[in-house]
Amino acid sequence: MTIMTAFQQKITELLPQIELNLEESLAKHTSFRIGGPAEVMAFPKTGAELSEILKTSALLDCKPVILGAGTNILAPDAGVRGLVICLRNLQETLERLDDSHIRVSAGVSMARCATFAANLGLSGLEFAHGIPGSVGGGVYMNAGAYGGEICQVCTEVEVMDLSGNRRVLTGEEMDFSYRHSRLEGTGDIVLSVTFALTKKPSEEIHEVMQDLMTRRRSSQPLDLPSAGSAFKRPVGGYAAALIDQTGLKGYRVGSAAVSQKHAGFVVNLGGATSEDVKQLLRDVSQKVFDATGISLEPEIRIW
Ligand SMILES: Cc1cc2nc3c(=O)[nH]c(=O)nc-3n(C[C@H](O)[C@H](O)[C@H](O)COP(=O)(O)OP(=O)(O)OC[C@H]3O[C@@H](n4cnc5c(N)ncnc54)[C@H](O)[C@@H]3O)c2cc1C
Repeated sequence: MTIMTAFQQKITELLPQIELNLEESLAKHTSFRIGGPAEVMAFPKTGAELSEILKTSALLDCKPVILGAGTNILAPDAGVRGLVICLRNLQETLERLDDSHIRVSAGVSMARCATFAANLGLSGLEFAHGIPGSVGGGVYMNAGAYGGEICQVCTEVEVMDLSGNRRVLTGEEMDFSYRHSRLEGTGDIVLSVTFALTKKPSEEIHEVMQDLMTRRRSSQPLDLPSAGSAFKRPVGGYAAALIDQTGLKGYRVGSAAVSQKHAGFVVNLGGATSEDVKQLLRDVSQKVFDATGISLEPEIRIW
């Protein structure tokens, strides 16, 4: 029988109704398939449950870590002591508000959200269809692709702060910029998002989404675990082009490698550790800087 830590004992006593997993593997919940155990992982199903978890966490003096679909995260090999809140099981809602607005809950996948809009004949989320995260993670990251970005279509975000209080922020208040939102500073948790879209025939929207998916499949290593583009786009260039130009395609540290198919991706060849990936990111940044004078900054969130 495994012995519970003091934190595990306290939180399981205080939250008997909430789904809590102890020593839950983070590798299981991240697209990189990397990461040790979370001391406690909570799976709230409703906003009320999330609020209860946050209040209890504050009581125990623990700042929780938020996990969406885990597609942009490098989790530590040693795992995370304390609480990880996984928003994947949050009740899913997708609703049409009027002719041009939809509201979607945070745990819904980008693909499902984009398909929902497309089926209603609402255009603007085609770019997001192939981004493999949740709507909440997409808003936090201001995710984007093929010229589209969440900030172009997001008009309102309902958030919960770490004390469990809800409020609605406008798109302007979100302070969006390239792969950044105000949530990075506040730690607020996205509950739902409103998108403003424009009318277009469904077939045309589906056609664009399919075309973008084909482009993605032909250029990205979707058959290997990764967290997408490893580096942000630097001023004056593209990270993938700079890495390729520096001759780093296939460069390896342990079982982490720069993808042969897309130099902007770091892939897990099987059994890569967080330390392998971090060393590889450092090496690639240094070599690109030495060769081009351009600094690369990780896009992946390193826990
Ligand atoms: C194959 C592949 C392709 C990708 N292509 C793209 C692309 O084209 N464009 C792009 O921008 N990204 C891309 N990504 C990266 C990733 O999918 C996006 O950043 C995505 O938006 C992350 O969402 P997530 O739910 O997985 O967030 P996670 O990875 O779980 O979390 C990312 C950050 O958001 C926070 N977060 C998550 N959910 C919430 C919430 N509800 N409230 C508050 N904070 C939250 C987390 O704490 C973390 O800091 C790709 C990734 C992969 C694996």
